[in-house]
Amino acid sequence: MSFPFQHPKGCFFVPDGAEPEAALQRTTHLGIGAHPDDLEFMGWHPILQCLHQEENHLTGVITSDGRSSPRSGLYARHSDDEMVQVRLREQQHAAVSGEYAATLSLMFEETGPVMGGQDSEPLIADLMEIVRRTQPRVIFTHNLCDRHPHHIVVVLAVVEALRRLSYTPEEFYGGEAWRSLDWMNPADRLHFDVSEHQNMTAALMGVYDSQITGGKRYDQATAGRKRANATYSDPFHSDDSSALEYAMDLMPLLKDPQLKPEDYAASLVENFLQDVKTRLTSGGKA
Ligand SMILES: [Zn+2]
Repeated sequence: MSFPFQHPKGCFFVPDGAEPEAALQRTTHLGIGAHPDDLEFMGWHPILQCLHQEENHLTGVITSDGRSSPRSGLYARHSDDEMVQVRLREQQHAAVSGEYAATLSLMFEETGPVMGGQDSEPLIADLMEIVRRTQPRVIFTHNLCDRHPHHIVVVLAVVEALRRLSYTPEEFYGGEAWRSLDWMNPADRLHFDVSEHQNMTAALMGVYDSQITGGKRYDQATAGRKRANATYSDPFHSDDSSALEYAMDLMPLLKDPQLKPEDYAASLVENFLQDVKTRLTSGGKA
């Protein structure tokens, strides 16, 4: 099957060799990230929901080609094109180890107009086609308050694609990457216990050697963030888990198609502001 990718280098990978159409049809969870590695850093919960499960299957979508990542050591002399291939292979290794249904690499150049946010239409078109074919129950992507510009391009495109399709999954949320969600009021954010199988989540992050050897210990930082979340989530109780993943609920944007993403994000920041003000004027209580 040839998938009608908007970018000529867009490609499919099905770890267990199933027909691509069948792989897409069995999808229950759809993860959409800007870069190879984003899903494995921000989405332990949906990955674990699908690991060794008969009824749940994860398909990963990576929108960019990852060509502009920093590099050093073993990868220092790699050209941009060689880095694209290395990162594609790393994503495929993660898909094999995590038993994903499929991965789709849309391959929009990181330095081009799509990932630069000047023209999201090709990305929206790909995402609409993928959602049409997968009909996922759960969709996860980046959160609206992320600091990486590519992540914002992606989450806005996902929201737009789902709105144009009038498609509402059962769950739709954005995970932590280039900004923690610790600042959000607990009532506003989603909490996922991801204590189990940390050997597997460590392995899924560990395949991204080009990124970690490139000078960023994303694996340690990500595991450390989730460990910190578990301890700092509640000052008055002992830890219920050893790793906690936070996410921003994005369903309000689908339930109210008129709600602007910037207004929804601002309302969450406003709730945080009110919490801080209330504590400072009431003896520390919220
Ligand atoms: Zn990323």
